Formats: sequence, structure tokens, C-alpha cells
Amino acid sequence: MKQLKSLRCPCGFEVRSTNEDEIVQMAQLHAKNVHGQDVTVEQAKALIQLAA
Ligand SMILES: [Zn+2]
Repeated sequence: MKQLKSLRCPCGFEVRSTNEDEIVQMAQLHAKNVHGQDVTVEQAKALIQLAA
């Protein structure tokens, strides 16, 4: 069974998935579109936590 994981942006945006690659992709899109920032895969992965 896969563990549900989440990534929360300081702006309140949150993405949840059991697929880390999907979370990273969503986070990169969000950072680019909303904050105009480029986030590396490593940076995004560092922000992923286990969802409660
Ligand atoms: Zn944000």
C-alpha cells in the first residue's frame, strides 16, 4: 500500500498524492504559474511530507 503524501506551499496551496513524481510536477507548475519561481525536483521533494 502506498503512503499518501502531501506538499504544502506557504501560500496555502496543497497537493496530495501517493505518487511523489506527480506531487513534484504539480508543485513545479504551481511555483511557476503562481509565484514565477523555478523549483528543482530536489527542492520539491525536500518539501514533501507524509499526509496525516
Ligand atoms: Zn504557493
